Amino acid sequence: MRPDILNPLFAEISALKGVGPALARPLERLGLARAVDVAFHLPISWVDRKLTDTLDMADAGRIIGIVLTPVEYKASGGTRAPFRVHATDSQGNYVSLIFFGRNSGWPRKLLPIGEPRFVSGKLDLYGQDLQIVHPDHVLPTDEAKDIPEREPVYGLSEGLTNNRMRELAAQALQRAPELPEWIEPSVLAHRDWPGWHEALARAHKDPADATAKARLAYDEIFAGQLALMLVRASSRKRRGMPVQGDGRLRSLLKLPFAPTGAQRRSIGEIEGDMVQATPMLRLLQGDVGSGKTLVALMALLNAVEAGAQGAMLAPTEILARQHFATLQKMLAGLPVNIAILTGREKGKAREATLMGLADGSIHILVGTHAIFQEAVQYRNLALAVIDEQHRFGVAQRMMLTAKAELTPHLLVMTATPIPRTLTLTYYGEMEVSRLDEMPPGRQPIETRVLSASRLDEVVEALGRHIATGGQAYWVCPLVEESENSDQAAAEARAESLRMRFGDAIGLVHGRMKGPEKDMVMDAFASNRTKVLVATTVIEVGVDVPNATLMIIEGADRFGLAQLHQLRGRVGRGDKPSVCLLLRGGALGETSRARLALMRETNDGFRIAEEDLRLRGAGELLGTRQSGEAQFRLANPEQIATLIDLARDDARLLIDRDGGLDSGRGQAARTCLYLFERDAAVGLLRSG
Ligand code: ADP
Ligand code: MG
Repeated sequence: MRPDILNPLFAEISALKGVGPALARPLERLGLARAVDVAFHLPISWVDRKLTDTLDMADAGRIIGIVLTPVEYKASGGTRAPFRVHATDSQGNYVSLIFFGRNSGWPRKLLPIGEPRFVSGKLDLYGQDLQIVHPDHVLPTDEAKDIPEREPVYGLSEGLTNNRMRELAAQALQRAPELPEWIEPSVLAHRDWPGWHEALARAHKDPADATAKARLAYDEIFAGQLALMLVRASSRKRRGMPVQGDGRLRSLLKLPFAPTGAQRRSIGEIEGDMVQATPMLRLLQGDVGSGKTLVALMALLNAVEAGAQGAMLAPTEILARQHFATLQKMLAGLPVNIAILTGREKGKAREATLMGLADGSIHILVGTHAIFQEAVQYRNLALAVIDEQHRFGVAQRMMLTAKAELTPHLLVMTATPIPRTLTLTYYGEMEVSRLDEMPPGRQPIETRVLSASRLDEVVEALGRHIATGGQAYWVCPLVEESENSDQAAAEARAESLRMRFGDAIGLVHGRMKGPEKDMVMDAFASNRTKVLVATTVIEVGVDVPNATLMIIEGADRFGLAQLHQLRGRVGRGDKPSVCLLLRGGALGETSRARLALMRETNDGFRIAEEDLRLRGAGELLGTRQSGEAQFRLANPEQIATLIDLARDDARLLIDRDGGLDSGRGQAARTCLYLFERDAAVGLLRSG
């Protein structure tokens, strides 16, 4: 249970003053649902305000703070015309303060004629006239001292102003308690880091305060490392089921190809783990198309041959069904029973599956999270495979819910190639197998970057492509605001393509109900529809070899890892493939470099390394950057520089106080709760 001291911070966001439904929505779009989320929503940059007495054309383009005296109102033209307040500085120089779309009562009240006011805002030059459009502060002169020279700038969404965000942050800060120190004192002293509360306050007040921000980042990294070590320690203490198959099922497999060297090596490593009494904790890293499924199947059969069961967890319904179909096909003719379980299996079928798992007649289960729910009892589950899971959370939870006396071996598979420097960050002390060799005979994917203004040409090319029997994916842009608008964008695109191509167009998005989604996927997989318009739900795993054209709209808005994943949907058959990345008009340098990299290479590991480097150079992390969501405070640069320290600190703490019972241990528990590693704390108790 989270300690009481953190409760005010973990209150719903509506507990903050001034947050009603209207404000809750833009906040939610930023992922801010609780006070703690606001507290961790640190400013992303700042503006330095020049405090001055006199207006100066040379300051155009800067934020200034100045005392002005309103001399005249100008409510020109119709209701849509801006309301202007002419004002002068102490020398009699003029500036217009401009207010759009407001009723004039408000600026009149704010700026009474003849009364000096402190005004802050961006000074612009319009022709020869100076103006300030929508001043960000207008205050009585004696309150001017409240306005800092350096003002934090927050990430915002529509309907939310920076002022409001700052106010909310102040409230969230008030809810943040002083916390006992969890960082090793020598580390703290050496780095000159402030305590947690002070660090948080400083990071909000002055976004340039690298020391305060480093401490906060460190806390988050430390919590992550500590959690991973607790999982590891707890798994070491657990007993697993040593299994060693005799190969009788695997020898019956009729594979149309020989395993690659990397596949063979990984399978060997996994077998080596599974024969141990300590549960395996292994990560299988392999780029899209590197053949992870075969490795998983071999591991599963290894368990089944030894008389045990295996389970495979997929992140989405679509993927679970696809894995099920793939495995079923590969297992055809073998005496192996395989079943599927997702939220959609109901009634009798579900009952039968549950029975079969309990009595052991089902050997392999494929499914979504449902497969680790309470009601699911296995007779002797020896291996759990988690596919395409970037986050460790599931594994943790699974270990908690492992009701079996014996903890299953765990194989986590990820197609997100993670830079070596970050592997430890994300996967702690898991053993790692890498599929660093692609199956032979892969056709290259040619990637082109095009401006979205050439959409007509793209549609023409799509027409030619399907006229010659090809299939294609069309991925719609991420729309910032919400899932709903992603869906709307996809629907609109499907609609416009249908005008041209009619029934050849399928549409799939995350909001669709399961059966409907299956129908769409089926139609595409069996070549009845030619183009699949989709949101990113098709990101992982989907396998239709005949699809050789991938079109990604708004490509500059995706993370590189995600683009790489999406691109990996093509290039799966024996024909060469093309990926068209449509980009927006005005791109920053980093965005250009990122897209150029996609064009240049198809090597996921290299893309991951470069992405880290480019983003480390200052590009803002997209909130949906897949796999990155684990960190809210720490940026890749901080992770790279602090990870070793955090790992050593965490290890030292655990060596001294494995139960986290000492004063510092208790403080570290609080840190774990602060970063919502509750599951890891739970492991302490369940031993
Ligand atoms: P991943 O899950 O790693 O993205 P898959 O397991 O889906 O990749 O494999 C991609 C494709 O490669 C599948 O069609 C699979 O049958 C094929 N494949 C796997 N291993 C080999 C191999 N050793 N030789 C040739 N083709 C292979
Ligand atoms: Mg896969």
